[in-house]
Amino acid sequence: MRISAGTTVNIVGAGLAGALLAVLLARRGLAVTLYERRPDPRQSRPERGRSINLALAARGIRALERAGVMQRVRPLMIAMRGRMVHERSGPSALQPYGQREHEVIYSVGLADLNLVLIEEALRHPNVAVRFNQQCTGVDVGGNRLRLRDTVSGSGHELELAPAIATDGAGSAVRASLAAAGLVTVREQWLEHDYKELTIPPVAGRPALETHALHIWPRGGFMLIALPNTDASFTATLFLARSGAQSFADLDSGAAVAGFFASQFPDAVPLLPHLAAEFAQHPQGQLGTVHTAPWHLEGKVLLLGDAAHAIVPFHGQGMNAAFEDCRALDELLDRHQDWETLFAELERARRPNTEAIAQMALENYVEMRDTVLDARFVRLKGLGLALERRFPERFIPRYSMVMFHPEIPYAEALRRGALQAQLLDELDPGEAAGAAPDLARAERLIRERLPPIG
Ligand SMILES: Cc1cc2nc3c(=O)[nH]c(=O)nc-3n(C[C@H](O)[C@H](O)[C@H](O)COP(=O)(O)OP(=O)(O)OC[C@H]3O[C@@H](n4cnc5c(N)ncnc54)[C@H](O)[C@@H]3O)c2cc1C
Repeated sequence: MRISAGTTVNIVGAGLAGALLAVLLARRGLAVTLYERRPDPRQSRPERGRSINLALAARGIRALERAGVMQRVRPLMIAMRGRMVHERSGPSALQPYGQREHEVIYSVGLADLNLVLIEEALRHPNVAVRFNQQCTGVDVGGNRLRLRDTVSGSGHELELAPAIATDGAGSAVRASLAAAGLVTVREQWLEHDYKELTIPPVAGRPALETHALHIWPRGGFMLIALPNTDASFTATLFLARSGAQSFADLDSGAAVAGFFASQFPDAVPLLPHLAAEFAQHPQGQLGTVHTAPWHLEGKVLLLGDAAHAIVPFHGQGMNAAFEDCRALDELLDRHQDWETLFAELERARRPNTEAIAQMALENYVEMRDTVLDARFVRLKGLGLALERRFPERFIPRYSMVMFHPEIPYAEALRRGALQAQLLDELDPGEAAGAAPDLARAERLIRERLPPIG
């Protein structure tokens, strides 16, 4: 079907990607209807224990800018300049993320961001959002989108129109396509779960340094905390589901208190509601989802987490989902039929979402473990020094992912591997006063790393 102004699109899921996509498509004059399982967020507060805040970085910001919504989003953002690493004993230390003023990431509340995006979508007369509408599946052959009203419990059907599914990691659309044998899905669940806790303000002031992402790395597990605009922090414990030192072990208030006192002693006074929150808040699962294909006959497209959920350790799931939306919008400049558009989107995005899925898994080990390692800190410093000297050829992988949206994820992964090898060869070692051989560094960089872009 040809795409032109007035063409109708159904979006399943008015979460982060769905709401942003609605804004982008509405700006092109398309008629968008969003179907969202939850109630209207303008009239209700989010579920407790799922009020996560997220790290927003350059890729996400670029997509939000394209949609013209940054003016509304900016007040929600708190700059985080680096990782504040809390060791079990001893002082905490800030490891900067980048080395230029703008090389920071931003903490933003998911519920607040989602609300702003829904409000921005609804400013367009050609957008409608139907809340309390749960998609129960699609029938591609019969061209039907199946919905259930969560208030009345009644079911109804619509034409697909097409439907773009942004219904998240547990996508019902993806599940129904898989059940019909139309897509293959591979879900890799992590053996580690997460639980959110609150660090409230103390006498109205933040209990920790505001402009940092706090990490308590402990080898096999970690606690992190990101700042909120109300001076509180949302802390998240990432821990094995079962086995030694696991959620299964923490089955009583005493066990939780003992674990935190021994592992995170400086965090305990900051968590006054630890016992109650630990008992009440849900224990979330984490995993990577690989789906193929993402689209069918120009009738259905999976986008964002519905197509490619990843683990959160690079802080890129939302950023990647927003980048999907931007990519789709850019492709609309060149393609005027759904089937070609969806196929081109998958072709362009899949190598990149596969790459960030891999880098996100690798980053878990880095965050919970190697940030404490002297060699890791030394090579991180060397990487930043090489970037200062050869900025057109050497950019640390973390910086490529977080601060350089013009470098695709797949390219960041590929160059990152070459750079890691190079850093390994240039590592001056632990001897006091040992310095890298910069002449050799220059020769190797010129040989192996062509200029970026
Ligand atoms: C602990 C944790 C920390 C994270 N930290 C970060 C981070 O720091 N940075 C980052 O970039 N990403 C992070 N992420 C990932 C990020 O949350 C997701 O990648 C992002 O929310 C994906 O957006 P989405 O719109 O695809 O899906 P979602 O945001 O999940 O939205 C899906 C929407 O669809 C609705 N829905 C679901 N099922 C149905 C249905 N059957 N019918 C109708 N509606 C439905 C949902 O209610 C929701 O509104 C984190 C994730 C977790 C779990």
